[in-house]
Amino acid sequence: MTEKPALPRDPVISRVARLLRPYRVQMTLVAVAVVTAAVLTSIVPFLVRAVFDKALFPVDGRPDLGLLTWLVLGMIAIPVVTAIIAIGQNFLTSKIGNSAMADLRSDLFAHLQKMELAFFTATKTGAIQSRLANDVGGVRTVLTDTATTILQNSVTVTAAFVSMIILSWQLTILTLIVMPLFVWIQLQVGKRRQRLARRTQESLSEMTAITEEALSVSGILLAKVFNRAESETERYREANRNQTKLQVDQAMTGRAFFAIVQTFFAITPALIYLVAGRMLGAGTVLTAGTLVAFTTLQARLQMPLLQLMRVTLDVQTSLALFRRIFEYIDLEPAIVERPGAIALKREELRGEIEFRNVWFRYPEARSLTGADTVDRFGETGVRIGAPEVQNDFGDAPNWTLHDVSLTVKPGQLAAIVGPTGAGKTTTTYLVPRFYDVTDGAILVDGHDVRDLTMGSLADSVGMVTQEPYLFHGTIRDNIAYAKPEASAAEIEKAARDANIHDAIMSFAQGYETITGERGYRLSGGEKQRIAIARVLLMDPRILILDEATSALDTETERLVQEALERATHNRTTIAIAHRLSTIQNADVIFGLEDGRLVEQGTHTELLASGGLYSRLYVEQFGSGQIEARFHDGVKFADGQTRCDRNSDDRRADVAL
Ligand code: ATP
Repeated sequence: MTEKPALPRDPVISRVARLLRPYRVQMTLVAVAVVTAAVLTSIVPFLVRAVFDKALFPVDGRPDLGLLTWLVLGMIAIPVVTAIIAIGQNFLTSKIGNSAMADLRSDLFAHLQKMELAFFTATKTGAIQSRLANDVGGVRTVLTDTATTILQNSVTVTAAFVSMIILSWQLTILTLIVMPLFVWIQLQVGKRRQRLARRTQESLSEMTAITEEALSVSGILLAKVFNRAESETERYREANRNQTKLQVDQAMTGRAFFAIVQTFFAITPALIYLVAGRMLGAGTVLTAGTLVAFTTLQARLQMPLLQLMRVTLDVQTSLALFRRIFEYIDLEPAIVERPGAIALKREELRGEIEFRNVWFRYPEARSLTGADTVDRFGETGVRIGAPEVQNDFGDAPNWTLHDVSLTVKPGQLAAIVGPTGAGKTTTTYLVPRFYDVTDGAILVDGHDVRDLTMGSLADSVGMVTQEPYLFHGTIRDNIAYAKPEASAAEIEKAARDANIHDAIMSFAQGYETITGERGYRLSGGEKQRIAIARVLLMDPRILILDEATSALDTETERLVQEALERATHNRTTIAIAHRLSTIQNADVIFGLEDGRLVEQGTHTELLASGGLYSRLYVEQFGSGQIEARFHDGVKFADGQTRCDRNSDDRRADVAL
């Protein structure tokens, strides 16, 4: 890994400076406070000199008590005033630093919200969290204290140097002679620090990712099912050891350098005496007082100089962190609204969907520094069609959809069927632009979806996903997510229509029941119906239903089916059907195989044609039933449960 050298004109620095721009006024106040405090403090030695020379032991020998009182008052007032200034200055620096950090965090969060789905399927959640928390948190000191420390110490160092030059420029040169060497070493140490800082943050990100994966409900389930608790702990321990080593390395980098600088300061007085002796021998005028004052000043220079050096190193460490943060901010979202995009009007929307020669291939993961990207099977594996599906992501022209053209008329119920991994979910993801087509176009009411505003498209297309996502909160909040301003009556109506109201009311806390992280405290059927209630509340013109694969008991199944039927009423629906029993009434059924649209028609037409649909039908219900159903049109009532369970078993590994 090659690091950019931390030159003073590094663009990262100007970007950091830009972060502080909104706080110009406060920063000016801090600068004024620092300089005032420094000036006030430097007055004290003069007051002391006056106390001795003018008040206590004046030339006439009589102590001047009046003057003494004023001087003493001054000596008391200055520390009191500087202490008050220090409090105000601390408040301001802390406010500036923390606010700038909060701005950065919010910017990063807002930017990540704009990123396309592909970014999240390709990046470890823990890694994203780590950049938001650890990296942004890591630059806090640089934003809060650094500027003040630099200013404060620079003032002190400059004042001391000026005094030293006034006392003896020759001795000052002696003191400065090794400075270029120190600056050079400092730069080298800084570079190493940056490298280490970057690696430390990467390792921290790795640890956060492990924690996120292993300690989530699914992670714990997986570890328990496969008895992997030990190895998970070992994985964490290993990452932890690596992190410790890097932390120690980082802490130790520069220690030797600081020791050299300290030693230099300790031995310089001796060198000064030696040189002074030579100078006196050569006839230069140099008083004992000047010599003592010079060495005192030189010794007093040590602390602020060392602090300046340390702070420069801290800045360099932070630069590495800033680069990691900016790396995310600089990622351009792949799916954006084009200028002048059309806003679909809800009341005018008919809900026609057309796929026109759609070709699609999943985009390759963007490469980022560090180990943020996930491996081949995605983070949890749930995004990948099925374990048996072979799809080498490294191969370029691996089309997931091949030249798909289809039309769903306004208000129609369209179903997509096909074997697992055929591209059903992918097809539906293209409508709300979770991904953009690679070639061809998708049109809603005749408009290419890429010409529509993201907001109006999102408002037009609702979705009930295979595994409904519920966040940790109350059932009410989970339903109202679709429409935060919804009244209690609206929420209840949606819940009634989704056949979940009675179940909710049977919970002790009713609508205020906490769903638990990802809804783990609710049954599969309940979660599905809450998700349906949510979409009913949203009331989109176009609805995408990815039918859940989990088996439900007959009664729950009926409740879910009823809710779904209500949900599809009066809108265009594309349903991905795994249970073919549920789509017999669809207006049109599309058969998808290997990313190709192989057939379309109604249930009866497709059964008659003997293609993919009828094959799948036979697979699910057996040929006897197909005959019976095809000939006498009997509604399917039972028999599917066994078949569905089988298909669930096939999915169990992936879902975990
Ligand atoms: P299932 O019935 O099992 O849900 P599906 O027909 O919905 O399957 P898709 O999920 O659309 O199938 O997947 C189609 C193909 O695209 C599969 O080969 C899958 O491995 C691949 N795929 C899915 N998601 C991604 C992704 N995020 N990145 C890369 N490839 C993906």
